[in-house]
Amino acid sequence: MKVTDPVCHMQIEPEKAAGKTEYQGQTYWFCSESCKKKFEAKPAQYAKPK
Ligand SMILES: [Zn+2]
Repeated sequence: MKVTDPVCHMQIEPEKAAGKTEYQGQTYWFCSESCKKKFEAKPAQYAKPK
């Protein structure tokens, strides 16, 4: 199963992700530490509305 990095939209495998974070009950995975930091700075901009 692959997941999509919400910042750069790269498809990644969760076990190979550089990091993950939870936001509003959803888990997001990131290809790199810099994508994770961008998300954490402005999660509302990157998180998918449910
Ligand atoms: Zn990324």
